[in-house]
Order: sequence, then structure tokens, then C-alpha cells
Amino acid sequence: MLLAQHSAVPAVQKPATLSCRLCEAEAVLCGDQIVLGRFNVLYYRCPVCDLIQTEQPTWLAEAYGGPNAAIDTGVIDRNRLTARLTWLTASVLGLRPTARCLDYGGGHGVFVRMMRDSGLDFRWFDRFAENLYARGFEASPADRYDLVTAFEVFEHFVDVRAELTTLFAPRHRYVLGSTLLHEGFNRDWWYLAPESGQHVAFFSRRTLAWIADAFGYDVAIGPSYTLFAEKGSLGSVRRSAVALTIARARFAFRVASLIPEFMIGNIGRFRSRTASDSEALRRAKE
Ligand SMILES: [Zn+2]
Repeated sequence: MLLAQHSAVPAVQKPATLSCRLCEAEAVLCGDQIVLGRFNVLYYRCPVCDLIQTEQPTWLAEAYGGPNAAIDTGVIDRNRLTARLTWLTASVLGLRPTARCLDYGGGHGVFVRMMRDSGLDFRWFDRFAENLYARGFEASPADRYDLVTAFEVFEHFVDVRAELTTLFAPRHRYVLGSTLLHEGFNRDWWYLAPESGQHVAFFSRRTLAWIADAFGYDVAIGPSYTLFAEKGSLGSVRRSAVALTIARARFAFRVASLIPEFMIGNIGRFRSRTASDSEALRRAKE
């Protein structure tokens, strides 16, 4: 029906369903969009896990190779906010300064550096980006961590099931992710990001609950942040505090923003690693 409605769809008939790349149920065509200015891309929604996914993407080389990445002016601002939220979440979770943390899909390493400056032992992993700011702190995603962060990562997954299996395989204690949640297909939703072509999977609250269930985690789901917690690892008080932090991330940002800059990494349980990292890297070079 949709195929008939939109004359922009090319003459080559594309299937009305595809095998969901998360749960393998039959996902149903729900809309289309022009991606990168010239690809007419179909979107499918899965009735079982509620994932919305593009057709199998053929445009990714262009999406990641082009100059589009340069138009992202929000990179530092986002890192500043997520660093504060992560610091707050780690505090609420009662993580110790010795807790091992990994930023999965860590980009150029800005976030890892910021977290280490805040006193958390964060490491960097990214299959696609070059580590510029957290050199010497690369780590394997196959190891088990107390906290793994995966910000703006899930929506880039093509083979969603395989990627999540890799992410959850080591049975990390906590996984904190961010991806904006869909409420059904809407061609005008900015998060489809058709001008960049990099977003190919879209999750709803139901999708994230499905993932938590499939991988055996408890979960707190907010409008943009989600925390997966090892089953039974949160007591009831901590569970409420975490749920509040995640569900009210905007408010949590505001609270975290009120903490003076000089106090982060100087008070409480986490002590800044800025100087000790520098010393350790210097020693390693000798
Ligand atoms: Zn599915």
C-alpha cells in the first residue's frame, strides 16, 4: 500500500517485509525517506520487538566517508552533559574508584579523558574512530567491566542482534546507553538523520525492554538514556534512585550541572586521574 502511495519509490519493487535484524520476526514496511539526498530508503517496523530499521543499508560507505561528520557542532556539549550524568550515575550505583569502566564506541576519546579527569577508570574502544585524547587507555570489549557506556551507538548498528550479543557477552555489571526512542515511524523525526545516513536502527521503550529480557538484564528506561543492570544487582533504594536519574535525565543534568567544576574529581569517592595518568604515561615511555 505504501509503495503505491509514494511515487518517489523507484520502479524496482522492494519487499513489504524483511527479517528483523534484532529478533528475526517479520518486520513490516512502515515508511520511506530520502537518505543522503538520493537514496530512497524503506523503513520496517517489527511487530515483536518494535525495532524500526532501514532496509539493508547499501549507502554506509558514503555516509561515513563523506564530509557530513564535520557538521556535528554538538560533540563537546554532548560530552559535557553525558560526562556529568555518567559521574552522577556511577555515584548513585555506588561504584568504587577501582571500578573498571569502558566507553564502547568512544569516538576520539574526549569522553574517556573527561571521565578520567573526574576520577573514574574509563577505557576506550571504537572500531571506527581514531583515539586522539585517550591514548594509552585502549581496552578490549571482550573483557568484563563494572560499567560500560555506549552513547549514540545503538542507532548505528546494522546487524543489531550480533552487535548487542558482542556488547553483552562479557556480562558487564552495568551498561548505560543513549539513543532517542521512537513512537512509531514519522518521516519528520529529526533522529532519522537522513542527511547523514548513519542511523539505521530505531528503538522504542518496548524494544529496550525486549533486549533487557533477551540478554538477562534489569533495565531502567528514560526518554534518551537506558541503564541495563545485572539481574538483582540493585537494591530497592538504589533501583529507585537509578530509575529517577535515568527517567529524569534532564533534571539529573541540571542537578549535576550545579556541582561546581572544581569539586568533580576532588571531593567524594572519585579522585581526578589527570596528573597520575600523565605520570603513568611518562613512565611507560621511559
Ligand atoms: Zn524484531
